[in-house]
Amino acid sequence: MRLVLLGPPGVGKGTQGRRIAGEHHWALISTGEMLREGIARGTGLGFEARKRMEAGLLVPDDVMIGLVKERSAADDARDGFVLDGFPRTVVQANALDSMLQAREQRLDVAIGLDAPREELVRRLSARRECPICKRAYNLVSAPPRNGGDCDDHPGMKLVQREDDSEPTVRKRLEVYDEQTAPLIDYYRGQGRLREVTAEGSVEDVYRRLLQALSC
Ligand code: AMP
Repeated sequence: MRLVLLGPPGVGKGTQGRRIAGEHHWALISTGEMLREGIARGTGLGFEARKRMEAGLLVPDDVMIGLVKERSAADDARDGFVLDGFPRTVVQANALDSMLQAREQRLDVAIGLDAPREELVRRLSARRECPICKRAYNLVSAPPRNGGDCDDHPGMKLVQREDDSEPTVRKRLEVYDEQTAPLIDYYRGQGRLREVTAEGSVEDVYRRLLQALSC
């Protein structure tokens, strides 16, 4: 199965994507994660992406397309993958279709996750992650067991992503509306869209997501 998780920042693409990919042994391709890793390791890609990410803007299409082209061709993605954070523009969606077509593969489904705006802002301001395993927590709805440490890495303090500060969150939501939301219609037009409400607990959303995939 090859699937895309679509939706605004804070809707839960990363959390749900990690779980669904893990349980089905599909590769998780999270472009935001790849860029943050590039920044942490001081690669050329990280250098190129950093300023735009900090400003809440998108990284250029050609950079992102090259990255996904290479990653999706890796061995672990042969039987399926979950794309989290790509495509984010119509140009990227077209490039994804072409790269899969060239491999005689196709995208099976695009899941459109959505939740009310105030809920997204609330979630993003309470979001923290483990710097080692990238597991996501929410200080209100899914806090770690032990104060501010990762459950799986005792002693490792959770951190807030730089782009989760309030002004950057607002910019990211604006950019989503302008450049990424049109992909909902793009995939609806191709008959590949399944819409899932991302309100409620992580568990509730996951159950709905599995239902959407099985129909
Ligand atoms: P995310 O972790 O998906 O919220 O992505 C964090 C940031 O990485 C975004 O705000 C963008 O600056 C950048 N980014 C991630 N994926 C893409 C993409 N497909 N196209 C352009 N920029 C991206």
